[in-house]
Amino acid sequence: MAELEGLEFGKSDFVLLDEVNMEQFMENLKLRFEKARIYTFIGEVVVSVNPYKQMDIYGKEAIDAYRGRELYENPPHLYAVADAAYKAMKRRAKDTCIVISGESGAGKTEASKYIMQYIAAITNPSQRAEVESVKNVLLKSNCVLEAFGNAKTNRNDNSSRFGKYMDINFNFNGDPTGGHINNYLLEKVRIKFNPVIYDLYQIQFYNTRIMNCVSATPQGNLQFETDSESVQVVGSEAVSHIAGLTTTEPDNVTKSLLYRTVATGGGEVIEKGHTEKEACFGRDAFAKALYERLFCWIVARINAVIEVKDYNPVLHGKNTVIGVLDIYGFEIFDNNSFEQFCINYCNEKLQQLFIELILRQEQDEYQREGITWQHIDYFNNQIIVDLVEQPHKGIISVLDEACLTVGKVTDTICLESMDAKLRQHPHYTSRCVSFYNLCLVSLYFRYSVEGFLDKNKDPLFQDFKRLMYNSSNPVLKEMWPDGQLSITEVTKRPLTAATLFKNSIVALVDKLGCKEPYYVRCIKPNEMKSPVLFDDARCQHQVAYLGLLENVRVRRAGFAYRQPYARFLQRYKMTCEYTWPNHLMETDREAVEAIVTQHGFQDDVAYGHTKLFVRTPRSLFTLEQERAALI
Ligand code: ADP
Ligand code: MG
Repeated sequence: MAELEGLEFGKSDFVLLDEVNMEQFMENLKLRFEKARIYTFIGEVVVSVNPYKQMDIYGKEAIDAYRGRELYENPPHLYAVADAAYKAMKRRAKDTCIVISGESGAGKTEASKYIMQYIAAITNPSQRAEVESVKNVLLKSNCVLEAFGNAKTNRNDNSSRFGKYMDINFNFNGDPTGGHINNYLLEKVRIKFNPVIYDLYQIQFYNTRIMNCVSATPQGNLQFETDSESVQVVGSEAVSHIAGLTTTEPDNVTKSLLYRTVATGGGEVIEKGHTEKEACFGRDAFAKALYERLFCWIVARINAVIEVKDYNPVLHGKNTVIGVLDIYGFEIFDNNSFEQFCINYCNEKLQQLFIELILRQEQDEYQREGITWQHIDYFNNQIIVDLVEQPHKGIISVLDEACLTVGKVTDTICLESMDAKLRQHPHYTSRCVSFYNLCLVSLYFRYSVEGFLDKNKDPLFQDFKRLMYNSSNPVLKEMWPDGQLSITEVTKRPLTAATLFKNSIVALVDKLGCKEPYYVRCIKPNEMKSPVLFDDARCQHQVAYLGLLENVRVRRAGFAYRQPYARFLQRYKMTCEYTWPNHLMETDREAVEAIVTQHGFQDDVAYGHTKLFVRTPRSLFTLEQERAALI
């Protein structure tokens, strides 16, 4: 395991390509996939291609091979990145994070699980019971979230329909003490596409001081009909079923489905009957909200169980964190809507953070070590992020304004006001094809604005909230605290879905921004879930929008690897006659110079105050091979 791979498996680091262009990149990626080498480095970034088959590379032997080793000492692997993040956290008391991105089905969630398993395997060597139990809960929390938040889609049999960021806390020993989960953008919209009604049933929820919790799953049917005077629910079983499962009165359920309370201008409160269309809209919104609140409640319960308890910094030392982010990558369909708009905005922000952090990190280190820094040009997509999120003039703000406008505002009117405000922006165009399109030129994604307003408003009639708050099931009541407000107390300007999402992503980026980042970039080789098919066009597309070529260029412009002199010597001293078994020079640095010169890569390095900087991994691989031949 420990020896490096031969050249027949392609280049194990894209930095080693003879030339950085798409053709060579793809050739290498494909060759490695075909040779079952699913991981490839770009410096410290791991590019992963979903193998769609069980790989025998995650066992104990592999874990032992990667534990405590440097990145280039082993073939590329998730474990190498996990170990790097862990080492930085433990040795330098740095908060770190591992950002896993890629589109649906690319292997993100599997990767995050292997990373968690690796961290669990290498910590708590003394098997202390309380740490074991923390690890156990952290690992198992995933199953619970998957049970509620995953679905079979045509792109992925076990697709996570939410983004997840998990902090794992460590004590000064480097053992896990707890964690915290944030969830993002649960895709509740899918609830609506199923035959609509939501059968609520009781399940045993194993880990929460345990109690029964209510789960909503789409099943059965709940329809409306309009008779001569008014709208009615078709049949009564559906209503009594919902009432039974939510422990509410059937009459109240019916009422919430058919009427809404409104406050008139004069402060009067009246009941207004729905049209059939409004009733359907209300029913769907209710189902989605029920699912969303349940999911958030479960996350909150898990957090209550895994949060760090009784941590005393004086006694236990600094509490450090490794964050693991498993969030959807850019999503591009034939018809992109509000959900894709949010997801892609999030990815633009993460991409921006990626470039900034990598460059900043490099710059800081070079400065510390007294190495001259070369400026690198890169595409700064802050301009696109601003286009979306800027106060008063960004797309979200225009959208919000339209949502708050009283009267008949349609998606097309909203688009027109965006046009008026944003026409001058270099990355904004909109055009009328068969329906109105909002087109962000960034990465050539196009969105249909149809449905944007409704999805952004995401309204739920207060009557449903009150219904749930008045349930005699205490758990449901707890999930709906806003149900106690009367219609006159309800805020007229609730935060919109886009703004809530933006706020959560800004908070996420702030959180990631103060950590040392490690990256896993996942690629889906084909749409058929096939272990042998490499769809060139699909893969190339992903490589392009993940910015992987740019990543290689940034990496090649700087120094790919760095090593403290002493550690470098310890590992390679046997490859040079002047340093084996011990060197007689005044400093370790001189001894390192002797090794570098003997192997002829003096043009590929720079000498820092405490570390050797190596520009390309090729030099180190040569050394590694020579070392392997000697031992
Ligand atoms: P994502 O979270 O990116 O949507 P998943 O991690 O759920 O994708 O992966 C989708 C499917 O691909 C998994 O259910 C599994 O069958 C397969 N898969 C992904 N990564 C691996 C891997 N490393 N080894 C084997 N199969 C994998
Ligand atoms: Mg997933």
